[in-house]
Amino acid sequence: REPVLEVKNLKVSFHVREGELQAVRGVDFHVDPGEVVGIVGESGCGKSVTAQTLMRLIPSPPSRIKSGSIRFLGEEILLKSEKEMRKLRGSKMGMIFQDPMTSLNPTLTVGSQIIENLTRHLNMNAAQAKKRAIEMLKLVGIPSAETRINQYPHEFSGGMRQRVMIAIALACDPALLIADEPTTALDVTIQAQILEVMKELRSRLKTSIILITHNLGIVAGICDRVIVMYGGQVVETGTVKELFTNPKHPYTEGLLKSVPRLDSRKEEPLIPIIGTPPDLVHPPAGCAFAPRCPYTMRICQRLDPGLLDCGGTQAARCWLNHEMAQEANA
Ligand code: SF4
Ligand code: MG
Repeated sequence: REPVLEVKNLKVSFHVREGELQAVRGVDFHVDPGEVVGIVGESGCGKSVTAQTLMRLIPSPPSRIKSGSIRFLGEEILLKSEKEMRKLRGSKMGMIFQDPMTSLNPTLTVGSQIIENLTRHLNMNAAQAKKRAIEMLKLVGIPSAETRINQYPHEFSGGMRQRVMIAIALACDPALLIADEPTTALDVTIQAQILEVMKELRSRLKTSIILITHNLGIVAGICDRVIVMYGGQVVETGTVKELFTNPKHPYTEGLLKSVPRLDSRKEEPLIPIIGTPPDLVHPPAGCAFAPRCPYTMRICQRLDPGLLDCGGTQAARCWLNHEMAQEANA
């Protein structure tokens, strides 16, 4: 089985006043057909920049893709022209963002926005496209889709707008859907409803999904695999089960302690991770998490451990998983 997406050694920098900010520092991951992969981390960890780079949506300048490869359906994304990318986005690659208002056109009815996408990418005629648009709105749980298709984005609530965005993103049956904090701007009840819609869709359609979030609770509910990012790097990866039952990186452990448990009756206190993320204009030589890590050893300050195999599909960028580390440190 060929992966839908394969990212290798991706490095992306930004020019800022202080110099070059290394937002993404050598990221590797893949997404298999039908898989839902979560990318988690605090803001500034590089998860959104990674997602935008996959779609070639980061503005260049000030950003620059320094190295790496992004293979999507067997083709190199980094070699495509802007014209080819425009064709891919909205057809084979769908996207949902945090704020649907910024991606919906306020002057067009939601119906015409879906229909436009369908006629442009799938060569449907107007009648076919309208039929499909209504189907899509129904699929994402919009009541009275036949009449609401003629309404404008401002006539929808925040949650309904996000459903419209999902309908638009999925209308052309993309191979990959990239959702960047799709529920963050919504209140908790609506968040849960949108996640239900996404869960339902993942079982019905065979679209692969990349879900970017800072909330591990959301990942647990919908993802197959998780990629935890910190300081522009992948610090841990594995199945949801592997990471949640046996995290191998202290940052993942910290994130898990700071997740409100949905099933818990007691008000367990959340333990925030003390400290701030690393300065990526001057990234550290050793482990980027060292200043915040409760287990820091001497070697951690000097050397980046790299992503170490932890058995199963799990890997973590932490010296604790290296037998030699304890000795080297002694
Ligand atoms: Fe902590 Fe060292 Fe592991 Fe980094 S490498 S997370 S500092 S134990
Ligand atoms: Mg973001």
